This record gives sequence, C-alpha cells and structure tokens, in this order.
Amino acid sequence: MIPITKPTLPPFEHLRERYEDVFQTGMLTNHKYVQAFETKIVEKTGVKHAIAISSCTAGMMLAMKAYKLQGEAILPSFTFCATGHAVLWNGLKPVFADIEAKHYCLNPEQVNDAITPKTAAILAVHMFGHPADVAALQEIAADHRLKLIFDSAHAFGSKVGSQYVGNFGDAESFSCSPTKLMTTGEGGILTTSDAWLARHIRVGRGYGDPGDYNCIMPGLNARMSEFHAALGISSLDMLEQNVEARNRLVEVYKRELRSIPGISFQEIAPNVRTTFKDFSLYIDPLTFGMTRDRLCDELLKRGIQSKKYFYPPVHLQDAYRQYRDEFHAKLPVTMDVTTNALSLPLYSHMQESEILHVVQQVREVQQHG
Ligand SMILES: *Cc1c(COP(=O)(O)O)cnc(C)c1O
Repeated sequence: MIPITKPTLPPFEHLRERYEDVFQTGMLTNHKYVQAFETKIVEKTGVKHAIAISSCTAGMMLAMKAYKLQGEAILPSFTFCATGHAVLWNGLKPVFADIEAKHYCLNPEQVNDAITPKTAAILAVHMFGHPADVAALQEIAADHRLKLIFDSAHAFGSKVGSQYVGNFGDAESFSCSPTKLMTTGEGGILTTSDAWLARHIRVGRGYGDPGDYNCIMPGLNARMSEFHAALGISSLDMLEQNVEARNRLVEVYKRELRSIPGISFQEIAPNVRTTFKDFSLYIDPLTFGMTRDRLCDELLKRGIQSKKYFYPPVHLQDAYRQYRDEFHAKLPVTMDVTTNALSLPLYSHMQESEILHVVQQVREVQQHG
C-alpha cells in the first residue's frame, strides 16, 4: 500500500537529548525549546515575529479574535474545513469567493466583487503550498482597510520571489500537523510584522492572561509543548532538503504523466517556490476516459491511496448549510476543480521507483478501467 503521505522524521537520536532535558527540568510547555524554535523560524524566514501555537486553526481563530473582527470575511470554499471554521468561531459571516483556475488560490477579482460595507477581512489560502496572489490581495486589503490573513497551513518553505511566505498580509498561520512538511506532531506557527498582534497572540495562546490573571482577551489554550518544539527544531533543519526533494519528485511525476491524455496539473507561477504539500492532478473525464472518482477507487484497489483534496468544498458541508444557496452559483471554478482534482501520494523521502509504480498504475487504470 502506498499512502497519500508520510511524515519525514529525523533520526530519534537527534531528539533524545532534548527530550531527556525536558524530563530533567520538568519544564514541559512553552519554555526554552519553544523559544529556540521561534527564534530559528525568524532567522530562517526573515519574519518579524513568529509565535508557536497548538495548531494553524487556533492561530487563525486567535488572529481574528485579537483584531475583534465583526461582519464578513471573504475566503475560498476550495480549502480545508478549518479555514471556514475559524471564521464561524469568530461569529463572522463567511463570504465565499471563487479561486482562479491555474493555481487554485483566491481570485483577486472575485475578492473585489465580494466586498461589501460589512467586509472586515480576507482569509486567503496558499493552496498546496502555491502562494496566493499576495501583491494583489495586499493592494485590495489596503484600499478597503481590510485585515488580510493567510491560511498558510501548506506553505512553510514557500517563497514569492526571494521572500518566504510568512512575510505577507497582517498575519499568516502555518500548520505543523503530521501531514504537513514541517511537523511538530501537532502544532502551528503564527507569523506577523504587527508587534501589537504578536503580543496579543502570545497572550492569547495562554487564555488571554498577560500574567496577572487579568485577561485582556478571551484566549485559548493554544500553547506548544516543549516536546513538540523539540521535534520542530529538527523538522526545520530538514526543511530545505524536503522542499527540494518534493520539487524533484514532482518533476518525475510530471515527466511521466504528461503523455497520458486527460491529465493536467496545478500550474506553478514562474516567480514562486511551492512546497508541494500535495501534488494535485486535474482529470478531464472526457479525454481521460473516466471520472476522477473512478480513478481514485481503482487506484485504491491497486494499493494506492489518493485524496480528493478538497472535496466537498466548504460551502457544501453541512456545517455551512445556511450559506450554500447564496454562494453556490458564484463558484464555478471551485466546483470544477473540486470535482476533478486528485492528489497522488507524495512524501519527502519517497523513492523515484515508488513514483514510477504509481504512474504505471494510473496508466493501467486508464487503459483497462
Ligand atoms: C491542515 C490544514 C489546516 C489545519 O491545520 P491544523 O494545524 O491541524 O489546525 C488548515 N488549513 C488548511 C488549508 C490545511 O490543510
């Protein structure tokens, strides 16, 4: 069985000393390894502030809570559910805008059209690691005085030009869960250039308590433990190597798959680096000869796990029932991509021979059904 992904972990020996240290000192959470992890992230990416938290979801929730946003937030529906949940948990109305067909990120023109007097924020996603159109979104946010927050779950290590993702908008929230490239087991990182927000996230991750039990905001317990940070430090050391490996592996996939009729790929803009958190195919059912769903079922029978990232889109999930009718007709590209996109197995230590095996199975499924 080839799984959709696997975490690429450091040798346990690299961690033993740190874990023993945590046991000996008894400082289990939010202490020196968390600080060291945060410092290392600042040095690596050039962000002004990096705050380690318990998840990407918690980071988005806290950023919107700290800014006391009210009204509406514009976001894509082609994303993981957590993007939408952060909006709902803050009592904001989700306003779904369509993605663009090449990179699957929010379409700035659609964002412009979705702005109303009630709009408070834009929540954009760097899909599969491909940076959203940060320049256009920053301009729209500035023109309309909106907060711009990125769900950067997929994009630790992505770049726009020479600048790391993490440096854009008002805040970016990264995920370190096990399916992401840089994992801590569970966890997240919030980055921002806004010193005021950085302080509020630091306080907000500890219930909103600045230290005197006189809370300044309704926070969460969204701290990162020392064990998680200790793993994060090693994961960060492996990041470059992992991003490069994935880019190389995807080149192999593309070279081998390109000749199969009816298959195309998420396009990568010339000026960006993506992490390839996922490698996403687009299946044209007429030319390929079968639907994405059928291909997914047949691959599974042959021992290959693929994933319909992201299906169903957020606006069609039951928790978002009340918004379905308002937005469904406005999301044609989202519906096209969510129906036809399929992610194939990819992990940073995957062997080229495994990729060739997956490609061979795709070929056979297409030929024999
Ligand atoms: C994984 C993921 C999240 C959630 O990250 P957590 O760290 O588990 O909260 C949010 N958004 C997207 C797009 C994701 O893929």
